Amino acid sequence: MAHESSSGSTGSSSNSTGTSSGSAATTTTAAAASKNNKANKNAAISKATYDTWYVIAGVTGACMAVYLFSVANAWYIRRRVAAARRAGKAASPPAATTGASVSISRVPKALNAVFANIAYYRVWPLWIWSATSTAEWWWTWAYTGIVLGLGFWGCISNGKLDYANPMGYVAFGQIPLIVALSSRNNVLSWLTGISYEKLNYLHRASGRLCVLTTWLHTLGWFKKGLGKHGPGTNIFLTGMLAAVAALIMWLTSFALARKIAYEFFLISHITMGIIFIVGSYYHWPRLGEWCWVGLVIWAFDRVLATCRMMWVNKVWLMPFSSKRAAHSACTVELVDPDVVRLTVNRPNMKWSPAQHAYITMPGVATLRYEQHPMTIANIQSETGDVTFIIRAQTGFTRRLVHRLTEQKSSDINCYLDGPYGMSHGLNHYDSVILVSGGTGVTYGTAHLLSIMEGSRNATTAVSNCRLVWNVREAANVSWIAPMINEAVAKGLGQTRFHIDIYITRSAASDEPGTAHVAPIEDTATPEYSPSGSTENVNDKGSASSLGDEKYASIAGLSAEAAQLVSWHRGRSHIEGILRSDRSESATDGAGVAVACCGPSGLTLDARRAVCKVNSAGSILRGQNDVTFYSELFGW
Ligand SMILES: Cc1cc2nc3c(=O)[nH]c(=O)nc-3n(C[C@H](O)[C@H](O)[C@H](O)COP(=O)(O)OP(=O)(O)OC[C@H]3O[C@@H](n4cnc5c(N)ncnc54)[C@H](O)[C@@H]3O)c2cc1C
Repeated sequence: MAHESSSGSTGSSSNSTGTSSGSAATTTTAAAASKNNKANKNAAISKATYDTWYVIAGVTGACMAVYLFSVANAWYIRRRVAAARRAGKAASPPAATTGASVSISRVPKALNAVFANIAYYRVWPLWIWSATSTAEWWWTWAYTGIVLGLGFWGCISNGKLDYANPMGYVAFGQIPLIVALSSRNNVLSWLTGISYEKLNYLHRASGRLCVLTTWLHTLGWFKKGLGKHGPGTNIFLTGMLAAVAALIMWLTSFALARKIAYEFFLISHITMGIIFIVGSYYHWPRLGEWCWVGLVIWAFDRVLATCRMMWVNKVWLMPFSSKRAAHSACTVELVDPDVVRLTVNRPNMKWSPAQHAYITMPGVATLRYEQHPMTIANIQSETGDVTFIIRAQTGFTRRLVHRLTEQKSSDINCYLDGPYGMSHGLNHYDSVILVSGGTGVTYGTAHLLSIMEGSRNATTAVSNCRLVWNVREAANVSWIAPMINEAVAKGLGQTRFHIDIYITRSAASDEPGTAHVAPIEDTATPEYSPSGSTENVNDKGSASSLGDEKYASIAGLSAEAAQLVSWHRGRSHIEGILRSDRSESATDGAGVAVACCGPSGLTLDARRAVCKVNSAGSILRGQNDVTFYSELFGW
């Protein structure tokens, strides 16, 4: 996409042949100077593209340092607090919620909370920037500004703005980053600890930038005249092919297109991506190194995914029909008219809490080898069972439910590719609140089971852990009941566990990724006392009014597990729960963590609650700070 002008001084040197030797010498010198000038200009543009990569490397290095520090800090806190608890030392008491004096030594923590609230926890209103955090907004625009700024640097030559070639260089320079950010086996994720799904907004930002600069390059050349690179030439055809492929990629990647026809989006995106890279390479082979790097990153991701899939599913046993059935078998149970619990035995798969895996069911999917990401609801155990809870949508997941209801067949082969995503352990916090909606409980259950295991082995710093689950029916608790029953039967250790079930009876309000929040029937949301209260929100009064035993038996909970559960009507009041749990949290752990996976409405509620409670004033007065994590079922 970047090429030199076909007209101008290069041609003028031949026209001058035959004139006086003095004039010829002058022309030759001018041509040489012009060529030199152009070479310098191209070198400057090329350098600007490399400069972008120095910036990317610098930012990645800084994020890596922060990540390493936070991992080491979490490890140290968890070990220190767990050792103190094992030795029988009492937890440091919580700070008073009212009347406590301000401590200057807590200024860094308070500033950190203010920064986290503004940059990460608060999101922009949907109508301004589709529920994006300030940090995402900042990185998107900072990246766009830096790349365009460096690209336009040197565009002005001889008093004229000539952006055609610089923009071509910028487009080439984006290829490796776009590919790297789209891959599941993502080196940038491993270095920074930021999961590949969370980095997807930068994939989109660099993709948009690549489309924009490709077309600026194209239009720039049309404007200044194509000269000898006109229609019919190789450079023109390959350039137009790449530019049109980039445009199609952009047009088919809007959220609406992904929602309506995800598989079409995926296939067209990959096909157009390959056409763009190959077209760009043949358009201007001198910049082919960027294409090669992109292809190598893509191949690395695919080869690693294939090897992992072969290892997890023991693919080498597949040629033997007697072994194939056993090693691709799975248990599929319809636990609700629209929800399936899938259990796959894969002892070779090792994962951390709340990671996800891609499932493939060739006998169910329309395109045999479709892959669908699902969060793993349980934790690693000696049995090797991997459990998923899947809500039927309209495509593959709906076909799975049909297969069970209409064909009455659960004889299904399943292959797993995973685990993926960066798991953030919560075992170093003192108090953990897991807020879930519908099948988002997979994320909450995985963390709950991990903390239960940590408490049993006395390796966790968590003294209080609460699962808050907004769900349509009491019977829906049966989705997770076997996992909870099993964990409780093994013993719970010292940590206090609470499971608060909020029965919303709303079909549209409790699924992750649901943009629209429907009004909730029967919303007698439990009352919580004002800020600073130490009242226990796990109020058995409201529970018994719904009939604990009746619900526990509908849900299939064991008597021991039922002891942990409180039943409520309506939606959870996250701010009240958070205030109450924080006021009781000890100060020797890493504070309070709120981890949320649910529909947009629930996640927004949780974000608002965290921003309100995590105020600088309360932290200066000795209260614990609150860290917020959120997980969405989509990108
Ligand atoms: C990291 C992650 C974890 C998830 N965990 C769970 C879980 O534990 N339980 C659960 O029920 N759902 C989970 N999902 C959502 C689940 O992947 C989709 O609901 C499922 O792929 C829909 O398949 P479908 O063909 O029936 O969808 P459709 O009805 O065709 O589409 C429904 C929605 O799912 C999206 N979608 C479709 N196919 C894919 C795909 N291959 N990859 C990503 N998104 C897709 C579409 O964009 C659309 O928004 C998770 C998604 C992600 C990204």
